[in-house]
Amino acid sequence: MDASMVLKAVLALASLGLVASGVLAVASKRFHVEVDPRVEQIASVLPGSNCGACGNPSCFVTAEGIASGSLPVTACVAGGQEVADAIAGLLGVDRCEVDTVVVVRACGGGIAAARAYDYHGVPSCAAAARLAGGPLVCQWGCFGFGDCVKACPFGALSLDERGLPVVDLARCTGCGACVQTCPRSSSGLLSLVPERAPVSVRCSAHSKPKERKAACSACCIACKKCERACPSDAIHVVEMLAVVDYEKCTGCNACVEACPQQCIDIYGRNVARTTGADGAGWRAVAAGSAVQEAEVAEA
Ligand code: SF4
Ligand code: SF4
Repeated sequence: MDASMVLKAVLALASLGLVASGVLAVASKRFHVEVDPRVEQIASVLPGSNCGACGNPSCFVTAEGIASGSLPVTACVAGGQEVADAIAGLLGVDRCEVDTVVVVRACGGGIAAARAYDYHGVPSCAAAARLAGGPLVCQWGCFGFGDCVKACPFGALSLDERGLPVVDLARCTGCGACVQTCPRSSSGLLSLVPERAPVSVRCSAHSKPKERKAACSACCIACKKCERACPSDAIHVVEMLAVVDYEKCTGCNACVEACPQQCIDIYGRNVARTTGADGAGWRAVAAGSAVQEAEVAEA
């Protein structure tokens, strides 16, 4: 190839580049969309985890919605009060109160729960649930493969030695990603409760108590001892399962003490949020930390 051919090729490429950059310059002017500078500011105070709890595909889309006024300053579920306050400050609007929630697990079975068959498939709760409803005899129990743990964008869940997911209340933002992922959530295994809710019943089974007990030693047996012990009328056995009314519950501990199955845990209000883990079991929590023990004793 002689030098003139090389020169021609270079010139052709250069002119192509010039034409393309000209077209791009015109297009960028013509199709320029004015971006509200507040979108960037709002996006910078959002968690940036794109968890989807607010129903939007990304934090940036949420920021756009808040800036345009189509979403409230409280739109970010995971951000809670802190983020809502920061956004209200940026936009110069009044502060809005956020009802923070955290996730709780209504199952205490784990490795103690009876198996209908040995499962050797993919270690996933969703996969196990598809095989004849899963290996557990209890149709409501936790499979313990930790799909919820993997789904949590904030690292707030871990599996304990019983094969049950426990929630680090200091990290849980209430985004609900775990609830959406768990194949048992529709029957109440994982649910969101007010952050300060004091107690949780570790069972979501609705079978006959006798059948339930044969399937799991840690279940609620609908004996109503908690109901009778509660001085605030805050816990009732409904359809053979103890259910807490968080509007009335004071966290006095009476139901926890009364339950012969030890299937009610106290956490949240009476256990410091920074150290509390939802799911260790009340006695384990109380024994594990002097601070927590003192707080539980004060209840
Ligand atoms: S709570 Fe649900 S997703 Fe999590 S380990 Fe148990 S069955 Fe699996
Ligand atoms: S005391 Fe325990 S086992 Fe009895 S009904 Fe209440 S939660 Fe269930």
